[in-house]
Amino acid sequence: GFQHVKMPEQGDKIRVQNGRLVVTDQPILGFIEGDGIGVDITPACMKVWNAAIEKAYGGKRKVHWAELYLGEKAAGIYDGNYFPEETMDAIKDLTVAIKGPLTTPVGEGFRSLNVSLRQTLDLYACVRPVKWYQGVPSPLKSPQDVNAVIFRENTEDVYAGLEYASGTEENKKLARFLREEMGADFFEDAGIGIKPISAFGSKRLVRKAIQYAIDNNRSSVTLVHKGNIMKFTEGAFRKWGYEVAAEEFGDVTITEDELWEKYDGKQPEGKIVIKDRIADIMFQLMLLRPAEFDVLATMNLNGDYLSDSLAAEVGGMGIAPGANMADNVAVFEATHGTAPKYAGQDKVNPSSLMFSGCMMFDYIGWPEVSKLIEDAFEKVVGEKVVTYDFARQIEGANKVSTSGFADALVDAI
Ligand code: NAD
Repeated sequence: GFQHVKMPEQGDKIRVQNGRLVVTDQPILGFIEGDGIGVDITPACMKVWNAAIEKAYGGKRKVHWAELYLGEKAAGIYDGNYFPEETMDAIKDLTVAIKGPLTTPVGEGFRSLNVSLRQTLDLYACVRPVKWYQGVPSPLKSPQDVNAVIFRENTEDVYAGLEYASGTEENKKLARFLREEMGADFFEDAGIGIKPISAFGSKRLVRKAIQYAIDNNRSSVTLVHKGNIMKFTEGAFRKWGYEVAAEEFGDVTITEDELWEKYDGKQPEGKIVIKDRIADIMFQLMLLRPAEFDVLATMNLNGDYLSDSLAAEVGGMGIAPGANMADNVAVFEATHGTAPKYAGQDKVNPSSLMFSGCMMFDYIGWPEVSKLIEDAFEKVVGEKVVTYDFARQIEGANKVSTSGFADALVDAI
């Protein structure tokens, strides 16, 4: 049993069987309100999600929400503990959860709660769809061409925490080893970081990206890398990516080379094209020819840059949705932070969390819900009814509050 988590009296936990989700008409989903503007956006989104579910299924399907606690709200309930273990247990138990943003407590010894969450649940894939909606301000001429999903590896790369500060004993020891045993040469007193990229880490990420492409009728998966420079890390990611495609998905994938050699550039029905691009070129291509790209698989650092850059093409961080996933658990989340200066003011844009909810409903096999929400969003934003952040960029906008925006969406659903 749980100490503070109250499981709803009705509803069924989502199960995973043979790698597939088993979802009944009455699933229990976990939610974490989040700190700062969490109090504004989470209730607003809840209203929109529930209205869309009701409309889509006429009462036949219903979500039973289980509130879980992380961050400041958790600290209030769990005697100062920002990261209660039972929340991790509950997320694992429920398989699917959604969370608002979390404050990282200031002070020595606190790790970011988001990093802790990823590490504890081994959420190795950060998934970020980038898609433009009618009416959203964009710096591109043809933002409608952008419709990609980034799968960013979340555990390896220069983010692995293997960094040794200049002047420390550890750094000197490593520098001595590199110079004396490995024949390496570099400037004195260099800070040193290590970039681990494994076959295991690369393959599970690319496997998930390809499986997503199959499940969602996507046409290509592009491996993004700087293998021309970092041959044995980024280049290996590329090589392992092609290996997974050939060995585990050989019947449904072809390489870009095969596309030209065997099929004269015409993509055969039912095949996903696996291609790769150098990371820096990828940034150009996503500005100049975004229509050519679909699912993108990246390592940690490239994916970090690319996610934010692509989010800016279609309306910015305020509306970009995301999720962190393992094989048997997925946590959907707002991609922005807690925006403390706006907390409790009923002012900010709830769309990032709301679209993360849409991802979640797609993920559990309820795509009718996200379709209704997306259509309502285009209608409402098309009428220039928007929160302050969009209002600044749209001439003649009708600026509304967080809850006002949610109410307009509910009316349009
Ligand atoms: P932030 O994303 O909270 O806010 C930066 C600015 O972005 C805000 O001042 C606001 O102008 C704008 N903004 C953010 N969300 C918005 C929304 N929904 N609608 C309209 N405008 C929005 O970033 P920050 O100020 O660097 O971080 C504040 C806190 O959030 C820190 O404690 C940080 O650790 C935390 N954080 C959490 C997450 C997360 O939980 N995923 C992510 C980033 C930062």
